[in-house]
Amino acid sequence: MRKALLRWYRVHHRKLPWRKTKDPYKIWISEVMLQQTTTSTVLPYYEKWLNLFPNMQALAQASSQKVLKAWAGLGYYQRARNLYRAARMMCRENGCIVPDSYGDLIALPGFGPYITAAVLSIAYGQPFPVLDANVRRVVMRLAGIHSKLSPQIDKILLPWIKAIFPERNSGDFNQAMMELGALVCRPRNPSCLLCPVQRFCLAFERGEQEVIPTPNRRNGQKIETVVGIIRDGRRYLIQKRPPQGLLAGLWEFPGGKRERGETLRGALHRELQEELAAEVKIGRQLLRVRHSYTRFQVTLFAFESELTAPPKLKRGSHRWVSVRAMKSYPFPSGSARIVRFLEDHDSQRDHRRLMG
Ligand code: SF4
Repeated sequence: MRKALLRWYRVHHRKLPWRKTKDPYKIWISEVMLQQTTTSTVLPYYEKWLNLFPNMQALAQASSQKVLKAWAGLGYYQRARNLYRAARMMCRENGCIVPDSYGDLIALPGFGPYITAAVLSIAYGQPFPVLDANVRRVVMRLAGIHSKLSPQIDKILLPWIKAIFPERNSGDFNQAMMELGALVCRPRNPSCLLCPVQRFCLAFERGEQEVIPTPNRRNGQKIETVVGIIRDGRRYLIQKRPPQGLLAGLWEFPGGKRERGETLRGALHRELQEELAAEVKIGRQLLRVRHSYTRFQVTLFAFESELTAPPKLKRGSHRWVSVRAMKSYPFPSGSARIVRFLEDHDSQRDHRRLMG
């Protein structure tokens, strides 16, 4: 099975930029970006990141705002914060070199078992198997294990994968398993007829590919948030999220979650009063943006809003900035859509003014 898998991988793997290098820093960055994110989304971010931070020293010396900005749009911002913290620690304690021992790596921020095994096997050729969602699904199907796909199943899968794990080519083997899961043994409609390991697969033999892993009926929670677009001449009011919790340290427009029984305008009025301690007038709705996170879906409603009395702004967490200046602030995806909207809006207004 190993031979069949590796032969297939050498011919069919996608020629991705992080596969052309053995630089542990670049492999680390790519693996962190690829967690919970598709390859096509990661590609432009990876290129941009390496232009901005070509090595660990450049990353460690950058400002946290620049790092978050380079990450903005990839989601799961804790990953960017951990990258930054780990880079600074490795520069301080290990001469800006990624350690090659499991114990040293797993102790760093953001290095769980998956990232640690991926970096050690791909960059340093050490025999550590990786288990991500793709590999879990492939192993469960090969071994005919009926269960939901979750990290809790790893204690059953690990002995199985260790039994087939090669002593050499461990990086290629890990990548081949992940690639098989991404290209052939997909969650739905796996291409079993093209699969290089079909003759070793219990799920295929029993016709159980579609029911392994056990389908997960997830009802993503739906959340509605409202934000106020408050302007002062050419500048808009933005605020920084708290340093802990969801989207920590990113910037957004003032507002918050609609509570049960509230109208959208009522919720925004309450949120702005609470956050800015000021009277506000809520104007027309400017746009509606939908965004999906892993466990919930957010619909964000943006309203033109006007302060009717001077607000009490918190120093450091509120700023008046122009749309042009917003480009250097890290915004989560939903708010970034509002920034693009304001950009278009401002340039159309300038155009109208020019045309008289
Ligand atoms: S035969 Fe089908 S189910 Fe089995 S590993 Fe290959 S693609 Fe997956």
